[in-house]
Amino acid sequence: MAEPTFEEKLEDIFTPEVLERARKLFAGEITFLRGVPRLQDLPEAMPCEVAFAGRSNVGKSSLLNALGGRKNLARTSSTPGRTRELNFFAVGEKLCLVDMPGYGYAKADKALVEGWQTLLKNYLRGRRELKRVFVLVDSRHGLKSADLEMMDLLDGSAVNYQIVLTKADKIKPSALTKVIDSVKAAISKRAAAHPRLHVTSSERGDGLAELRAEMVLLSDLA
Ligand code: GDP
Repeated sequence: MAEPTFEEKLEDIFTPEVLERARKLFAGEITFLRGVPRLQDLPEAMPCEVAFAGRSNVGKSSLLNALGGRKNLARTSSTPGRTRELNFFAVGEKLCLVDMPGYGYAKADKALVEGWQTLLKNYLRGRRELKRVFVLVDSRHGLKSADLEMMDLLDGSAVNYQIVLTKADKIKPSALTKVIDSVKAAISKRAAAHPRLHVTSSERGDGLAELRAEMVLLSDLA
């Protein structure tokens, strides 16, 4: 018998039952817990924490809003480089989403950036409940140096991470396939990278059900 294709394997993982549980979870209550500028302000951890990182303007706020099926979960287009806080949201009883500030913004104040990086490193190293970081990458741009730096930090902190391509509606399928292949090749050599990619569009809704399901599977294990 032939080996199952990647898509067939995905069907085994994201079964209708898991997709439906994920849909229900995200249709339910999502509560903003707090914004954290300093490590000592971290909320008590829920069993499963997942964080969202990415360059400024990657479409992170749009994705978080689309995942939650609401408009104002995360503020879209907040001034880049200004809000250096980790924002925590509770989704149901077990899952916590963490919205990390966009990175790669050159004009941010140097002292602020250094302070923020210390917070980020300490958070990544010390948070046992942090099960995965989703590193968002614009489909049109692929991996940029700021993404590689973030991935180095995650590999170095032994924090499991997974690439989520955003704005998939903005490029042609043939170009998208190329970006997917090059990202897969880049992560295959990295210690803490999950091999599965999520390809999403907040605009069209592509990939959102599977990304929600990924989080449900992670929280099942927690
Ligand atoms: P953030 O800085 O990472 O939070 O990015 P935003 O969510 O504010 O998005 C930046 C810009 O990209 C905004 O103009 C969004 O409308 C746009 N955008 C975000 N996601 C998508 C998407 O899936 N498709 C398209 N076409 N535009 C998007």
